[in-house]
Amino acid sequence: MNRRKFLTILGSAGVASALGTAKVAKAAGGTHTWPYYENSYGVLHDTTRCIGCRRCEEGCNKVNNLPGPDKPFDDLSVLDKPRRMTPNAWTVVNKYELDGKPVFRKLQCFHCNDPACASACFAKCFQKQPDGSVTYDGSQCVGCRYCMVACPFYVPSFEYDDAWDPLVQKCTFCEPRLREGKLPGCVEACPMDALTFGRRSDLIKVARARIKANPDKYADYIYGEWDAGGTAWMVLVPAVPAEHSLAETGHEFRALGLDTHLGNRPMGELTAGALGAVPMIVAFWPVLFGGAYAISKRREAMHKAETETIIRDAREDMANVMDAAVRKIAETQGPGVADTARQAMADALRTREETCANRGHHGEDK
Ligand code: SF4
Ligand code: SF4
Ligand code: SF4
Repeated sequence: MNRRKFLTILGSAGVASALGTAKVAKAAGGTHTWPYYENSYGVLHDTTRCIGCRRCEEGCNKVNNLPGPDKPFDDLSVLDKPRRMTPNAWTVVNKYELDGKPVFRKLQCFHCNDPACASACFAKCFQKQPDGSVTYDGSQCVGCRYCMVACPFYVPSFEYDDAWDPLVQKCTFCEPRLREGKLPGCVEACPMDALTFGRRSDLIKVARARIKANPDKYADYIYGEWDAGGTAWMVLVPAVPAEHSLAETGHEFRALGLDTHLGNRPMGELTAGALGAVPMIVAFWPVLFGGAYAISKRREAMHKAETETIIRDAREDMANVMDAAVRKIAETQGPGVADTARQAMADALRTREETCANRGHHGEDK
């Protein structure tokens, strides 16, 4: 089952049973969580120009001060196996085979027009910015990793190795550089002009012009113009001669690891539907979040001998709040949804408490 299907089922089950017809009508009408910013930027990745040199990876690493790579950037043996983004590698280039020839594609956040990661995040860590970037602010992140589940492109990665304060990491579209009028580091580093930065609307025209001028060279489709509701980063892929072509439409894209089954509706709609199954979590979130914060603050302030009692009392208070929330969800939305809500709240609180405790060990603000 692909991610869209999963979210659709979860979303429609939750929406239909839990939220009633109003929400269904809203989703069916094509809701957008974020406004579409006409003048926003994007990047066009022309895979027919890409030579798999990894200079974009190196540029990203440098401008973002990321830790050194496992293998040097001039070691192209890493292309032998497909790779995914990691907390320390916000972009990677992979080698694919199309019609018997190698084709290279750069992977990073697509900076969706209507980002599912943002719709999934209770703590509102993700923002679609008017410049087109989707940014992440980890100061309120509880580590629930719903953004990772929601992203149709499997982009956000989690700092599992950071025992103290793990955060989500992903490409930022070099948003701080965009504010200074600079190009993204990867775009600046590419020696082949395989990455074109510009207004998204202009890039679509550029892409169409390239396809029109070279119909034998390019597949006649701009990946990301509409996929998953449209993305700021878009991809052109090589055409396969008709006589070599497989019967299935879109196989040039799938051969390059691009999902052609995401549909044109924003993924955020589905995520919102899926999370709509537990709307009470959202309603109770400030209370729960504040409660966890209060526990950590009280822990800090009180004498050690009193601490255990105080924490126990605070936990009981929290448990009562959670029980009340779950009872209400069970009454209004059924026991299945209530179980999901209870589990999600417990996970989020545990992560939050662990994070607060770890920050405390480091003497940081809790
Ligand atoms: S590609 Fe994934 S992480 Fe990036 S904006 Fe879209 S949903 Fe968010
Ligand atoms: S836009 Fe910036 S953060 Fe994103 S892949 Fe390029 S260099 Fe890295
Ligand atoms: S720097 Fe340009 S040519 Fe080299 S791998 Fe990256 S996108 Fe491709």
